[in-house]
Amino acid sequence: MALISAINPLLTAGWQTGGHEWRMEKDAGWRLKDYEARGGYKALRKIINDKLTQDDVIGEVKKSALRGRGGAGFPTGLKWGFMPKAAPVKYIVCNTDEGEPGTFKDRDLLRYDPHSVIEGMIIAGYAVGAALGYNYIHGEIYEIYQRFEEALDEARAAGYLGGNILGSGFNFDLFAHQGWGAYICGEESALLESIEGKKGQPRFKPPFPANVGLYGKPTTINNTESFAAIPFIFNIGGENYLNLGKPNNGGTKLYSVSGHVNRPGNYEVPMGTPFATLLEMAGGMRGGRKLKAVIPGGSSAPVLPAEIMMDCTMDYDSLAKAGSMLGSGAVIVMDETVCMVKALERLSYFYFEESCGQCTPCREGTGWLYRIVHRIEHGQGRADDLELLNSLTENIMGRTICALGDAAALPVRSFTKHFKSEFEYHIEHKKCLVPPDVQYEGSKIYVRPSAC
Ligand code: SF4
Repeated sequence: MALISAINPLLTAGWQTGGHEWRMEKDAGWRLKDYEARGGYKALRKIINDKLTQDDVIGEVKKSALRGRGGAGFPTGLKWGFMPKAAPVKYIVCNTDEGEPGTFKDRDLLRYDPHSVIEGMIIAGYAVGAALGYNYIHGEIYEIYQRFEEALDEARAAGYLGGNILGSGFNFDLFAHQGWGAYICGEESALLESIEGKKGQPRFKPPFPANVGLYGKPTTINNTESFAAIPFIFNIGGENYLNLGKPNNGGTKLYSVSGHVNRPGNYEVPMGTPFATLLEMAGGMRGGRKLKAVIPGGSSAPVLPAEIMMDCTMDYDSLAKAGSMLGSGAVIVMDETVCMVKALERLSYFYFEESCGQCTPCREGTGWLYRIVHRIEHGQGRADDLELLNSLTENIMGRTICALGDAAALPVRSFTKHFKSEFEYHIEHKKCLVPPDVQYEGSKIYVRPSAC
C-alpha cells in the first residue's frame, strides 16, 4: 500500500519523494519529534499565544469549508458552532471506527501521523470549551490503538495534553477507546453508546450529539481525517485551504484506492481532482485491462459505470450530480472481469451481517436483499426478482433509525440500474455473462474457469 500526499507537509515527513509524489516508509516519522520537526503543534501554539477566542477558531474552520471526511460531508465549523457555550461539561470524540469496506485511510493516519489527529482534537476542545476527548478506534486494528496510546503519552509528557496546556490555563485530556469491530459503531450515536459500555446501537435523532451526546452531555464527533486536517488549516489559513479545492468542496481529501489498480493505496489530492488523474496516480488499471465500474465513496455509495466515472471529478458535488456520493473517499475500482451480480451478492451479505437488528425494515430487509441476489447469482433467479429488489429497497430507505438501511439499499438500486443486463442474463440463462478470463493474482497469472 502507498500513502501519498503532495500537499500537506504535516503528512509528508518521513516519506520518500518520487516526482510530484510522496511515499511513506513503514513506521517512519510518526513520533512527536518528527511531527514537531515538520511544523507539528505550531497551530496549537499560535492559537494559544495569540489568545484566539472560541469564535475565532470556529470562524477559521468555517472559512476553510472543511466538510466531515467520514462520509456525511457535514460542514465541520458549523458542527462545532452547534455546541452550547454555557454547558459545564462537553466532550470531543474522534471516530476511527473505520469499517466501511474499501476504506483504509484513518488507520494509516493513526499509523503514520497520530499527532496530527491529537493536535486537531486539542484545537477542537479549545474551540468548543471541552476538557475531555476520546478516540474510538476500530477493534480489528489493535496495533493502531497501541500506537495512538504511545503518541498520547508523548503529547502528555510534552505538555500538549493535560492541565494548563502550554501555560495557557486551558485543560484538555484525551483517551483512546478500543471498539470490537462492529460496523454499526461507526454511526456516531452507536459509537457513543459503545463508549458508555452499552450495546453499540444507534439512537433516535433528534436530539443530536451537540445537545445530548456522550453521557448525555454536549459532544462534537468528527472523523479522524477531519481532525487531522485542522492543524494544516490553521498553518496555511482557512481561505487558503478552501482554495486548494473547489467552492463548497474545500481543501484536500485522502482517497483509499483499491481493487484492480496497479498501486492501491491512500492518495491525498485536492478536492475536485479528476477521477482519471487519481486512477493514474494509482498506477492505472491492473494488467492494462478495461475499467468497468467504480464505487467512488465506500461500499454504501452507488456504483457508477466507467463511462460516467471517467467524466467525474472527486468532490461531493460532482459525484452527487453523477448519481453517487463521495462518502468516505474509498474508491473501489473494478475491471472488465468482475461479475456485478457476484459483487453485489458480497456487498449485500455484508450489510445483512452488520445490521444491528433494531428496526424491522433493516433487520428483515437486508436479509431479503441478500437472499434474492444470492439466488440470482446461483442460477435460481426468478423473472420478477429485479422488480422485487426494487420494491424492497423502497420499503427500506428512509424508514430506519440510522443510515445503514439506505446503505444496504443504495448499492442494490445502482447495481441493478447500471448493470441490469447482467442481472437479466443471470436470471434467464442461469449463468454468468462475464466470460472466463485471465486473472492476475500478485505476480501469478492464471486462467479463471468461470466468472462466478
Ligand atoms: Fe440498526 Fe439497521 Fe436500524 Fe440502523 S437501520 S438502527 S443498523 S436495524
